Amino acid sequence: MKRRDFIKNTSLAGAALGSSVLAAPAVHASGKTRWKMVTTWPKNFPGLGTGANNLAKLIGEMSGGRLTVKVYGAKELVPAFETFDAVSSGTAEMGHGAAYYWKGKNESAQFFSTVPFGLTAQEMNGWLYHGGGMELWRELYEQFGLVPAAAGNTGVQMGGWFNKEINSIGDLQGLKMRIPGLGGEVLKRAGGTPVNLPGGELFTALQSGTIDATEWVNPYNDLAFGFYKAASYYYYPGWHEPGTTLEAIVNKQALEKLPGDLQSIVLNACKITNQDMLAEYTARNNDALKVLVEKHKVDIRRYPDEVLARLRELSAEVVAEIAGKDEFSGRVYKSYTEFRDKVVNWSKLSEQAYLDARSDNGNA
Ligand code: CA
Repeated sequence: MKRRDFIKNTSLAGAALGSSVLAAPAVHASGKTRWKMVTTWPKNFPGLGTGANNLAKLIGEMSGGRLTVKVYGAKELVPAFETFDAVSSGTAEMGHGAAYYWKGKNESAQFFSTVPFGLTAQEMNGWLYHGGGMELWRELYEQFGLVPAAAGNTGVQMGGWFNKEINSIGDLQGLKMRIPGLGGEVLKRAGGTPVNLPGGELFTALQSGTIDATEWVNPYNDLAFGFYKAASYYYYPGWHEPGTTLEAIVNKQALEKLPGDLQSIVLNACKITNQDMLAEYTARNNDALKVLVEKHKVDIRRYPDEVLARLRELSAEVVAEIAGKDEFSGRVYKSYTEFRDKVVNWSKLSEQAYLDARSDNGNA
């Protein structure tokens, strides 16, 4: 499918292109510009929401106050999953979320957040910044009047919270689990029922039994939501989200109205936030894990090898199918998998070999 056909077939792109009259950003007499940033996160949520806050703060500081950004939590201005449309239409100039929430726009969007059994945070940044990923991401979002930027990474996530043991692939049969994106599709093929809900709704859904299980992020974020009060088992590793990139989206017209130095500040503040959020998670997960295990007596379990092996097979099928969805998705799949195949060889000799070596010498 040619890109023009893709545009034609995507209702939102039509709406964005047809009526892209952007509300004029608030510009003070002093020449100061004020932007709004809508997010998919609860206001001030640790790591994700505070990461968006930090991004806004950084833009204000780096611009010497010439551009200030006010952050809105989910539902404050628009619901979580309307973030993309709100920035596309110019209701807000910026947004913060994750690209896999927008798979309804184009399936390939998921590659720009995370793919089951795909790239780690470090590898993802390699693909985006120096492996052709960013160019493809920009090309995809241009249809919607948006400029994307990587603006945070969770690192490898946890597998999720369950109220029963997962001893074989059969234990996923009939399981209603919150798990977004491609991971959800893999669960479906394993016999489960994936649902997607914004973070703010997960605890109640799990506690009330609306869902049987949920994944969210990692110990730091999962402790904040209190999932240990509603589920007994906390499984790892997060095969479905091995290094999820969070995104900032910027309304293209709004960005292009800024002088060049402010445009650079916006995009480079995203780059700083991308690194800083990963560093914060790396630091905070340790203490949160300790609290979950020692204080709340959470039962930490590793998925059995046979379960991971089957999920890996199903993931390869699901991810490969995206390549056939449309011409653009085919190109994203090709770029991503070629990069993954190369980086796996290097990671084996570097991170993987080193982490194995460190564990074996008893210092880990
Ligand atoms: Ca997750």
